[in-house]
Amino acid sequence: RAKKNGKNTYQIYSATMDINSYKNFYLDRDLRKSIENNELVVYLQPRVDTFTGKLISAEALVRWEHPVWGLVSPSEFIPIAEDSGFINEIGDWVLEEVCHFIQSCEKKKITTIPISINISAQRFLRNDWKDKLIHILRKTNTDPNLLEFEITERTLIQYEQDVEAALKYIKGLGIKIALDDFGTGYSSLSYIKDFSIDTIKIDRSFISQIAKSCDVEVIIKTLLYMTKELKMNVVAEGVETEVQLDFLKQHGCKEIQGYIYSKPVTIEEFQALQSESILKLHDPSQHKRVGV
Ligand code: C2E
Ligand code: MG
Ligand code: MG
Ligand code: MG
Repeated sequence: RAKKNGKNTYQIYSATMDINSYKNFYLDRDLRKSIENNELVVYLQPRVDTFTGKLISAEALVRWEHPVWGLVSPSEFIPIAEDSGFINEIGDWVLEEVCHFIQSCEKKKITTIPISINISAQRFLRNDWKDKLIHILRKTNTDPNLLEFEITERTLIQYEQDVEAALKYIKGLGIKIALDDFGTGYSSLSYIKDFSIDTIKIDRSFISQIAKSCDVEVIIKTLLYMTKELKMNVVAEGVETEVQLDFLKQHGCKEIQGYIYSKPVTIEEFQALQSESILKLHDPSQHKRVGV
């Protein structure tokens, strides 16, 4: 059995196949059945106003409860799904779950807030994406203005040509576009303008260097200045400490997401947070409190 790796060469599975490729083989096979077996779960992580602690919006993050391996992290199965193309089914499924969540808030008369969904740029290569999107929006009667699609720099570059037209169409519907993991994917700054991006998400690898690297602090300050002047929205990802929060406040970063306020939580836990409206800071030493 041969598996394609990044360098267009083939790696032969053999008796010496290590535990990771063994696991990946089964994860790949089982993932294809995860939706029909109800093994995927959507978690939500709050996006919070830096200055007031008010809940502004949330990001949907998928979780997989594998019957044998237990909870499998997205960083483990999303790359597998990207390779196999099953990421497209996952994307549609998460979108529909999120639309149902928004609908349920409306029914319970909970104030609806915008929700961000991670979409692989690969989704726009298959020609059924538009019909699927419209179908889900209609079926769930969802206001597109309550949705934002997060596209990573990495997948954006990979599928550049197809993505540009797709994003124009999506924006035309009223859905916002965020550039995820910004600063990690070798993209050029011209993408921001060419793809009419609404939001930049500064990657956690930068935020974690606050108070540790002066160079990284300069990069963050520059990004905050740039997004302000371009009238773009900016979110700092992976904020864990008060030191990081204070730095981001001082330099005018309006929105943050991170364990300092909340880990990704289940929809039930999230609706409890929504009734709090102003979220409490978490002691960084107690991260295991809620969510996964
Ligand atoms: P991402 O979109 O950049 O999501 C943010 C990741 O950072 C999430 O990891 C989140 O749990 C984690 N995070 C948030 N705040 C903190 C913090 O303060 N400290 C630390 N250490 N981590 C924090 P998660 O949920 O494991 O997801 C990993 C990646 O998998 C996501 O990165 C995203 O690229 C991908 N992913 C997750 N769900 C989906 C999905 O439904 N579709 C697609 N296409 N990708 C997804
Ligand atoms: Mg994201
Ligand atoms: Mg990110
Ligand atoms: Mg990431």
